[in-house]
Amino acid sequence: MSRRRQIYEGKAKILYEGPEPGTLIQYFKDDATAFNAQKKGTIQGKGVINNRISEYVFTRLNHIGVPNHFIRRLNMREQLVRQVEIIPIEVVVRNVAAGSISKRLGIPEGDMLPHTLIEYCYKDDALGDPLVAEEHIRCFGWAGHDEMQDIADMAIRVNDFLCGMFAAINIRLIDFKLEFGRIWDGDFSRVILADEISPDGCRLWDMATGEKLDKDRFRRDLGGEEEAYQEVARRLGLLQDDNGPSEVFDLSKHRKLRGK
Ligand code: C5P
Repeated sequence: MSRRRQIYEGKAKILYEGPEPGTLIQYFKDDATAFNAQKKGTIQGKGVINNRISEYVFTRLNHIGVPNHFIRRLNMREQLVRQVEIIPIEVVVRNVAAGSISKRLGIPEGDMLPHTLIEYCYKDDALGDPLVAEEHIRCFGWAGHDEMQDIADMAIRVNDFLCGMFAAINIRLIDFKLEFGRIWDGDFSRVILADEISPDGCRLWDMATGEKLDKDRFRRDLGGEEEAYQEVARRLGLLQDDNGPSEVFDLSKHRKLRGK
């Protein structure tokens, strides 16, 4: 087997050259980082679960007409995606105050926001991904006016879809991060959703208990991160089928076998 060319290695994923021009293979790692990689660790089986959850979400987003880079899942840890020119902006959508907005503005975590907020951060590890205004994005040419319009429209559609999807499995969607990229057709480009949607980039709280089912368990040393990611996948119905992530430890089965 020929070795694939690695295009990029990020904190949680590796991108390899795809089988056809314009495609990439996105490999999901178990590595976890927080606070701009000052905290590093591993969440066992995370890559397998995020690959499945992201496949599930992107496939459904495609069905409701949110264009995205997902083509198909290849195996437990890899998916085939369209190659895009990444727009260097993290798009954060917030429904409930938590994390950096609570710190920055002194809003108690858990307070419902008066309306959904979209924030933009400039993707630059050395600068710590600073919060920027749309003015900065246009001023420095990171994205154009029409592109920002499309991005905001898509972010709101994704939020509406995800809020409903998670509410159906008794999870509150607090906030999440999206990334977008350009695809070119001659001189014309359009913006599509890229990257991943998984508990790595979302805050997900159990509707009844408020238990955190996302990367905050790792960030805040709460423990139980493997189980939390599995719980999200299980509620989405992704742990049962034959093609499921068998590499992943099935906690409820394990408990039943041990008579708990
Ligand atoms: O830290 P903050 O409160 O700004 O994060 C908002 C949301 O964006 C959280 O769901 C977090 O997981 C996600 N995020 C991310 N990657 C970053 C920054 C934030 O996935 N670099």
